[in-house]
Amino acid sequence: MKLALFDGNRLGVALPAENAVADVTAALPWPHDPDPLGAGWWRLLCRDYPEVRSRIDAALPNAPRHPLDTVTLRAPVLNPSKVIACAVNYHEHAAEMRDGILQRTGSSTASWMLDFDTFLKAPSSIVGPQDAVVLPRGPVAEGREIHHESELAFIVGKGGADIPEDRAMAHIFGYTIGLDMTVRGQGDRSRRKSYDTFTPVGPWVVTADEISDPNALRIRLTLNGEERQNIQAGEMIVKIPGIVAYASRIMRLEPGDIVLTGAPPGVGQVHAGDVMETTIDGIGTMTVPVRNSE
Ligand code: MN
Repeated sequence: MKLALFDGNRLGVALPAENAVADVTAALPWPHDPDPLGAGWWRLLCRDYPEVRSRIDAALPNAPRHPLDTVTLRAPVLNPSKVIACAVNYHEHAAEMRDGILQRTGSSTASWMLDFDTFLKAPSSIVGPQDAVVLPRGPVAEGREIHHESELAFIVGKGGADIPEDRAMAHIFGYTIGLDMTVRGQGDRSRRKSYDTFTPVGPWVVTADEISDPNALRIRLTLNGEERQNIQAGEMIVKIPGIVAYASRIMRLEPGDIVLTGAPPGVGQVHAGDVMETTIDGIGTMTVPVRNSE
């Protein structure tokens, strides 16, 4: 099922073949609050989806349909306790960083910069699939490069700590697309990647029961129509069960947390006026413009 949030954070089932979204908000067993601060219902849905799914299935045939172009899709994550992201999870991306980008952008060339790891982004950096990335004034004035990283992302269902790899997949609610916008240069990743609008997410979550093999998913990004990133998720150095195990040894995963699985090779600079189009087959497409702050 493709679960979307739209308009006033209503719950929808996206039906791309019908070019529609069905409003299934009434099927929720909890009160629906459109205010993100009251949106614990979303995290309950992430945690309890296997139990709630039959209610959504039952409501779907008679749920009101809206044409997709008449609604505003929101980020399919509400109030996550954290945004976890992976650093250096494709060999070719490690190579492009080592062989040019780190030096050119004045970044640290310490060896740990080329090792797999996880880090945190501010949840306030999340925007929806119909929003723009706004370039932050300070880094632009300093002439810093700001890069696109288009990544497969997953949403945590049932939470847990110290989750072993062989149980990891049972903790995944679903998959979506995340852009991990990044200022290059010196400084902690959490600062360089946490500016407002630096984590577009969407267009919806495809529940885990519909994706039998996430390694088969192909992640692509075009910039102004030119292909820049194109890789299969199976090329990850640490694959999804390993990411769940690694991250949950550090911090308890909570229902509704979002995890970005790392940048494919082909990262590069964006400027105001650019348009990024990112697609993962089986999930969908997000078209995200870039603009300067006002
Ligand atoms: Mn990234």
